Amino acid sequence: MSTPPHIESIRLRQVNLPPKVVRTDAIQSFVTQETLLLTLRCSDGIEGTGYAYTIGTGGSSVLALLKDHLAPRLLGRNPLHLEAIWKDLFYSTHATAVGAITSLALACVDTALWDWRARKLNLPLWQLLGGAQARVPVYTTEGGWLHLSADELVDQTLAAKAEGFRGAKIKVGRPHVSEDVARLSAVRAAVGSGFEIMTDANQGFNRPEVVRRAAAFEGLDLAWLEEPLPAEDVAGHRQLREHTPIPIAVGESMYHLSQFREYLEQGACSIVQPDVARIGGITPWVKVAHLAEGFNVPVCPHFLMELHVSLCAGVPNAAWVEYIPQLDDITTSRIRVEGGYAYPPDTPGLGLEWDWPVIGKRQIADVKIDH
Ligand code: MG
Repeated sequence: MSTPPHIESIRLRQVNLPPKVVRTDAIQSFVTQETLLLTLRCSDGIEGTGYAYTIGTGGSSVLALLKDHLAPRLLGRNPLHLEAIWKDLFYSTHATAVGAITSLALACVDTALWDWRARKLNLPLWQLLGGAQARVPVYTTEGGWLHLSADELVDQTLAAKAEGFRGAKIKVGRPHVSEDVARLSAVRAAVGSGFEIMTDANQGFNRPEVVRRAAAFEGLDLAWLEEPLPAEDVAGHRQLREHTPIPIAVGESMYHLSQFREYLEQGACSIVQPDVARIGGITPWVKVAHLAEGFNVPVCPHFLMELHVSLCAGVPNAAWVEYIPQLDDITTSRIRVEGGYAYPPDTPGLGLEWDWPVIGKRQIADVKIDH
């Protein structure tokens, strides 16, 4: 048997990317995408690059956790031992986990290991994960923001429909329920039936208000109501489901598999939306998807379309990819979107071609770790 491969060196970079459009929702605005890149080089000469992101705070903390604690533990490890590495890193940071910073750091490591693995096996990620579907329906969130007027929403949703998208997301959470209803009704009247309208409250409501809003939204044929309540209020979500036929979607603010288990066990959601960066990488993301399949619940991941398209194509219960270009500035690869479907890349690895010269110019951190 040949010598097992081991991780020889690690390189960490941070690039800050401005969002392409102004993004506001019920609780926050998207200032800058702090993008953390981790490249590991193994003894077989193959490199794997993974990444995670924040929307404006915490990027330097993720980088510090990786540099000071996680990356040194990777040196010498066999990159095939993904599960062992994930568990070891998780427990090594136990006093700061479960938490966003730790999960984002774990995601950098885990996605890099999957990139290495898929390159090593010369397979595209979606086939390595199971090859469940060659294309995935796509909806757009590159619009629909809370500050936009009803007329602006109508114009951009009609444009999205004309481009071939099968659905669009509209933020809800204007001060009065009547404003939300007016905006959504205008869009529904314009696009007609058959085009999906997703809504997203970004955790902005309390229990009584969300029951009222959901009742007012009935008849608009919404595909789902996303994050209607604070993510930690599992019982509130379960109660809401008893009051409304609108599917309830949660997951972008969850950082561990056990949080999804809690929602699914309690029947507190209809759709799960794990974010591969916030859940800690591909290893836990796939577990969430399979767990949801066991509950006959679809997975519609949050953001990160460049990676989620491959994850969705890899599992049988993925229903939608969310269209928000995130990496155009620092990659040369582009996702193929045609006729309302997104197609996973067929190149080996994660399918991302990083533009290293551009990254070199724009990076605000570059750290190398080896023996
Ligand atoms: Mg959301």
